[in-house]
Amino acid sequence: MNKPQAPLKIEISKSAILHNIKFVRQLIDEDVTYYSVVKGNAYGHGIETYCKVVFEAGVQHFCTYTAEEAYRVWKTTDGKAAILIMGYIAPNELEWVIENDIEFFVFEEKRLQDAITTAKKINKKALVHIELETGMNRTGFPIEDLDTVLSTIDSNASCMEAKGICTHFAGAESITNYHRVKKQQSRFKKVVKKLKKNQQLPLLVHSSCSAAVIAYPKSKHNMVRIGILQYGFYPSREILVNYLNHNEGKENILQPKRVLSWKSSVMDIKDVKAGEFIGYGTSFFSNTPTKIAIIPVGYSLGFNRNLSNLGRVLINGKRLNIIGTINMNALTVNITDLEDIKIGDEVVLIGKQGEMEISVSSFSDAGNLPNYELLTRLPAEIPRVLVD
Ligand SMILES: *Cc1c(COP(=O)(O)O)cnc(C)c1O
Repeated sequence: MNKPQAPLKIEISKSAILHNIKFVRQLIDEDVTYYSVVKGNAYGHGIETYCKVVFEAGVQHFCTYTAEEAYRVWKTTDGKAAILIMGYIAPNELEWVIENDIEFFVFEEKRLQDAITTAKKINKKALVHIELETGMNRTGFPIEDLDTVLSTIDSNASCMEAKGICTHFAGAESITNYHRVKKQQSRFKKVVKKLKKNQQLPLLVHSSCSAAVIAYPKSKHNMVRIGILQYGFYPSREILVNYLNHNEGKENILQPKRVLSWKSSVMDIKDVKAGEFIGYGTSFFSNTPTKIAIIPVGYSLGFNRNLSNLGRVLINGKRLNIIGTINMNALTVNITDLEDIKIGDEVVLIGKQGEMEISVSSFSDAGNLPNYELLTRLPAEIPRVLVD
């Protein structure tokens, strides 16, 4: 057998990626360093596929959540990109991380001490970003501990460098969190001011994700960590409205473009008489003669079962209804009265076909999932194919 073909693929648009880099860059000043966030398999776009394109386009800094993801970025960029791990590092990965100048967050005492021990052992400098707890209550040193952390780093200057200082907002994409985020912003600013005065300020200062860059533009400092915008999505509708309000009256304002399309093909077609249930159980009944197409995609491949009898797909440029329940490996589409659809025809689950489009957000609204979650749930084993 030749290389097996997956029943579906995810196409990644190179031109949309390049456009979105431009979009992100126009939101920040030139002296602000842009770290491209590629955790969650580059928000489902595929770390290897995505990083190769943006690295070649001049993006030199990446954020991951784990050391495993960092390793994949490192491989893809031949060890030439700056990589920052914001979350998990397994004990046996720390040596590789330090050896290869991978930057990482320190947010508690054990990681700080382990990093010092490992760096001494291999005689390399650990490059750390001190993460501060300003109110999200996830990771981060309490602000009161900062002096101790700094003096620990200072007294181990031969094996550790504080490359950055940072914090993360607890939901900058929603106005509901406005007061909480504002408090975090002011706590962080106070620390930065003090460090600056004492000439202790690390090279990089950062707190902003995609939403904060638009909603809290004064939080950019000299580095930003941008995820979802790069993939063509606003973090929320509020942030879209905020962006449009800020740019009201301007001509040709840039908008991010969708990068990802999700496609399959028709596997089978059949006619069903009137008066029959279609698929498992009784969720769809044919009141009239019904012609159906079977598509080899189901919930095991990331197609949300909540879209049973609700979702739409595109075939031959037409928007068609999913009928019956989504199976583990298949779904059924109503193609009644359509004579031109054949086995093998392209089926678009997310993306454009002709004049029609199925957006991630219509898809995620119907399935009641935020964009972030839908994207990152797309299974890693679906091949990502780069297209123009
Ligand atoms: C995910 C993440 C980001 C990026 O968030 P977006 O909303 O996708 O821009 C930035 N910083 C941290 C700490 C994160 O975990």
